[in-house]
Amino acid sequence: MSELVYLDHNATTEPCAEAIEEMLDSLHTVWANPSSTHAPGQAARRALADARTRVAAFLGCQGAELVFTSGATEANHMAVLGALERDPARQRVVLSAVEHPGMLALATRLRAQGFAVDLIPVDAHGRLDLVVANALIRNDVALVSVMGANNETGVLMPVGELAALAHAAGSLLHVDATQLLGKTPARSDAGGADLWSVSAHKVHGPKGVGALIVRKGLGWPPLFSGRQERGRRGGTENMPGILGFAAAAERAGRTLAHDVAHMRALQARLEAGLRAALPEAHLYGARAERLPNTTCLRFGTLDAEQVLGKLERAGVIASSGAACTAGGTQPSHVLLAMGEPALHARASVRLSLGRETSADEIDRTIAAAVKVIGPLLESTRESTHPAAESVAA
Ligand code: PMP
Repeated sequence: MSELVYLDHNATTEPCAEAIEEMLDSLHTVWANPSSTHAPGQAARRALADARTRVAAFLGCQGAELVFTSGATEANHMAVLGALERDPARQRVVLSAVEHPGMLALATRLRAQGFAVDLIPVDAHGRLDLVVANALIRNDVALVSVMGANNETGVLMPVGELAALAHAAGSLLHVDATQLLGKTPARSDAGGADLWSVSAHKVHGPKGVGALIVRKGLGWPPLFSGRQERGRRGGTENMPGILGFAAAAERAGRTLAHDVAHMRALQARLEAGLRAALPEAHLYGARAERLPNTTCLRFGTLDAEQVLGKLERAGVIASSGAACTAGGTQPSHVLLAMGEPALHARASVRLSLGRETSADEIDRTIAAAVKVIGPLLESTRESTHPAAESVAA
């Protein structure tokens, strides 16, 4: 897709050459079952141990703390359900109001089963309300779980402060770090979280593989029973996925500091360019600390679906937090939580950069937006001005 500008890296990233090569190779060389005691099985076991060490090195945790899963969704479920299972005296979980839809769907199921789930609100810039968090995190809370960074707005969560609140209440903190990988130099022990979820496909690895990092010494019940992963995740290991994850992690680690600075510079270029050319461009999370690659904005009240369709035809791939369904566009739950009206929450568009994004692609994106969104804004200006004048008159 070389002629297209792909700005949807928060949804997924293209697998890197290193990951593809290692995955293909693994299908030929280490296809034996790592639990088998024969020589090919033991070779697979060694490859798995090696991959664990390489992923752990990238994340800054110990290999023994890593439980490989099918991705962040499974790791998130393992964190929340495990916390409720391991301490019957604590049957409440506290999440943020802007969690991933998979997590909020789990919250709905838990409530239906009689568990208490509280949501910490955010302010207009997407920043977590720590005063409410403090009031909600009491000694009946099994787990506090928040994203490290929001996938729609890129706004960072105050992980260190939440860890202190959770630990003071005798509770644990889980961070869904899916969107942090490859975008922040912060490693898994940063901020004092007890558990972290990660996913390979957000960092140029394969889909269907991720991990839950469980702080050393913390016993954790499995979601799937079995002997693998030290009894914490049953099922024959996804060897190609795990080895692809290791290759992607190693590759990402080599240029991490450079990539973060590169994306940060391009993000500034993109936002300045769009705001200068299209005054109706309204940036979300502008006053918050954000990921270096995520720009969430609306163009006046133009519907996201319309904007994204126009951009795609002009060669720019982006996405929206709003869910497009047959019945129309559903407003983004993240922007609604930030206090935006549904009209605005249906208009939010997310441009998420990757480490390979170039300055030329950013300039082409700005030019495309001016070309296809500019006239749409022009026509809304024309249709709203007479009305505004008649109100004033
Ligand atoms: N959490 C966050 C914050 C995400 O952005 C995503 C991916 N959209 C997930 C969880 C789910 O990850 P996976 O696809 O690995 O299940």
